[in-house]
Amino acid sequence: MESIKYTDVVVLGAGSAGIAAAVAIARRGLQVILIERNAYPGGKATAAEVGTVCGLYRNSKNQTAEFIVKGFAREFAETLQQRSGSTALHNADGLHYLPYNIDSFKDISLGLLHNNNVTTYFNSVLETVQKTNGKIISVSVIADGNPVTIHLKSIIDCSGDSIISRAAGLPLIKSDNYQAAAQVFTMQGIEETNEARLGMIIIKAIRSAIEEDKLANFYDRVYIVQGSLKNKLVSLKVGIPLPVTYAPGNLQELRTVAHSFVENLVEFLTTQVPAFKNASIQHIAPEVGIRIGQRSIGKYILTENDVLPCKQFEDAIANASWPIEEWSQQLRVSMRFLEGECYQVPAGCLQSAHTSNLFFAGRNISANDAAIASARVMGICLQTGYAAGCMAAAVASDISLAEVIEQIQNDQL
Ligand SMILES: Cc1cc2nc3c(=O)[nH]c(=O)nc-3n(C[C@H](O)[C@H](O)[C@H](O)COP(=O)(O)OP(=O)(O)OC[C@H]3O[C@@H](n4cnc5c(N)ncnc54)[C@H](O)[C@@H]3O)c2cc1C
Repeated sequence: MESIKYTDVVVLGAGSAGIAAAVAIARRGLQVILIERNAYPGGKATAAEVGTVCGLYRNSKNQTAEFIVKGFAREFAETLQQRSGSTALHNADGLHYLPYNIDSFKDISLGLLHNNNVTTYFNSVLETVQKTNGKIISVSVIADGNPVTIHLKSIIDCSGDSIISRAAGLPLIKSDNYQAAAQVFTMQGIEETNEARLGMIIIKAIRSAIEEDKLANFYDRVYIVQGSLKNKLVSLKVGIPLPVTYAPGNLQELRTVAHSFVENLVEFLTTQVPAFKNASIQHIAPEVGIRIGQRSIGKYILTENDVLPCKQFEDAIANASWPIEEWSQQLRVSMRFLEGECYQVPAGCLQSAHTSNLFFAGRNISANDAAIASARVMGICLQTGYAAGCMAAAVASDISLAEVIEQIQNDQL
């Protein structure tokens, strides 16, 4: 039998953005229900095992990483670093990022949700939304197999895929060419202890094999997940040579191609590369990593003309220092770097242009293809999540958004 629930705010999706949003709402003393289709929180951070948090630090060639984020994002990152026992790394371009342990990410998220009294529905999917007078008034969910209708005052879409806008029949920002998906997997029994050297060994061996026609061209899209080489384990990320589309069956096809890529690569590495002679697969991440999905249309659409010149906004809610990072089907990654220290994400990117009580955060904020290729990293998702939580809580409590945006700026900028 269908059950009926009432809450102040519903958050869809317990990835980095959804966790931040739910905690922000609960900390403001409101009731929140967080709906997640997986049995655990984290989204791409845990299910796709992406392995490092980007967008937390200033870009600089200094050895030491310096936070550019404040508030919840920094609190989360510091706890994650401490529990993972990791140190921020940096590359030659001056980009700093934090490697983390997947189980620590899950545990910290579960602890935060529990300690802040967030009601969580895991193994639950959103089916439909009901609207009246330009507002969403309730959602229908299958929660652990049982139908539930939840009445709400405001709602945040942190699904990464604009599931709420789609269910509400709202227009979307779609891409002609979604970024390449990737599959992360972990190998054990690695004989090399230096990560940079291991990376060079892998790519050299693969490139020679490609030149000799022993491997297809796309096998050069193999990357080490930075900071993952320890205790003879290493996580590798492979770019899947198949377009990401919204066609039925595409996700299954991506999974099949990814697993066959991993199998062939492991066969190659273990038979042709001495550092892998005693190695084997430890596990494959449960989900294929889809980088970018459909986005909702907000009061403002962020573009590369905001990102690259580092535009600042009066209604800014997040500092964003990560470059535009594009992964295509044909090439290894390409970067377009910011012209200054950081751009800002305005509140208008989190607020629906069409439905007054609908907000978004994370990788489905209102941004074009180029801008989301920067704003999707987790340091920024944590900030947009927290800000969307504060904004949705304000709408649910009839507090002015201008007032709450000022508070978010004090907390986060
Ligand atoms: C291969 C890859 C590598 C990456 N590398 C990095 C990196 O090194 N550093 C970095 O910072 N970022 C990286 N990113 C980007 C980053 O991981 C994501 O953009 C970010 O984690 C997105 O967070 P989110 O909360 O917006 O969405 P997600 O993490 O996608 O969370 C969305 C959640 O919504 C749930 N959901 C979706 N639909 C429904 C539904 N209908 N009902 C219920 N629940 C639903 C999902 O299960 C998921 O848990 C990478 C991404 C990929 C794919």
